[in-house]
Amino acid sequence: YGFKACRKIRGAQIRGLLEAKEFFLFDCDGVLWHGEKAVAGAAQVVNSLMRQGKNVVFVTNNSTRPRDKYVHKFYRLGFTAVALEHIFSSSYCSALYLRDVAKLRGQVFVVGCDGLRDELREAGIPCVEEADEPDATIYDCALAADVKAVLVGHDDKLTFLKLAKASCYLKDPNCLFLATDNDPWHPLSSGRILPGSGSLMAALEVASGRKATVIGKPNRYMFECISSQFPGMDPAQCLMVGDRLETDMLFGSNCGLDTMLTLTGVSQMEEAHQYENSEEYQSLVPDYVVDTIADLLSAFE
Ligand code: PLP
Ligand code: CA
Repeated sequence: YGFKACRKIRGAQIRGLLEAKEFFLFDCDGVLWHGEKAVAGAAQVVNSLMRQGKNVVFVTNNSTRPRDKYVHKFYRLGFTAVALEHIFSSSYCSALYLRDVAKLRGQVFVVGCDGLRDELREAGIPCVEEADEPDATIYDCALAADVKAVLVGHDDKLTFLKLAKASCYLKDPNCLFLATDNDPWHPLSSGRILPGSGSLMAALEVASGRKATVIGKPNRYMFECISSQFPGMDPAQCLMVGDRLETDMLFGSNCGLDTMLTLTGVSQMEEAHQYENSEEYQSLVPDYVVDTIADLLSAFE
């Protein structure tokens, strides 16, 4: 009683919803594409919304690319009107946090991909260069004296040495501890999974005895980045579209946005129904459900 009921919407309801909203926030993987393959109809939906003059932004926890690489990816997959200022990735927002919130003076030690370091440098944040001999250990490598933050993200070249160095830097209580996101794992099209940033963050939390500040969804900071760049943006005018209850739907709830779950990604209908009758988990329940983002196409016919 008084709890949210998540329901599939179609036809005229979809049209009404799209007309009522001015801002559309799209999660990327699982909604718009799977890896390098676009979800059928996704580009058409996004292009149509943009053509109608709606504000469209992309909110991704994927920290492995700088924004200019995302622009190319969008273009390659048929999203031809997407520009830098539409993209809010956890790497970009981490850079903004270090620059504008932490006002960092000093270097960042990054456990992450080159793309994350590129994004930080773009924002004028210096990163420690990795120049270790292949067989170096924590005994014979130097630590930089001016490291004022450790930032952990997805790292496909993780080594024990990187974890060891990060743990040493985190012994200094004045060294910030940030994570791009807390995603536990990601599905691959083969049915296999990739461990996410959250699993690396957990390793460093255990080693340091500290808790990381998480920049990405479901926390509010990425929404603050978006709303600061779209003055006058009202949460009531926004729809957050995502595929994962514990990141995207919770992010929408945390920011006061209506939420839509698409069933082309991680979370399925059964899971959403399980949370419906639980007071504790109301913020994971989507306001609307569609099978795929392509269901929104009907609104433009
Ligand atoms: N981080 C990495 C490394 C990923 O591979 C993915 C999805 O593939 C994500 C994060 C999640 O991205 P999104 O928030 O767009 O679903
Ligand atoms: Ca996703």
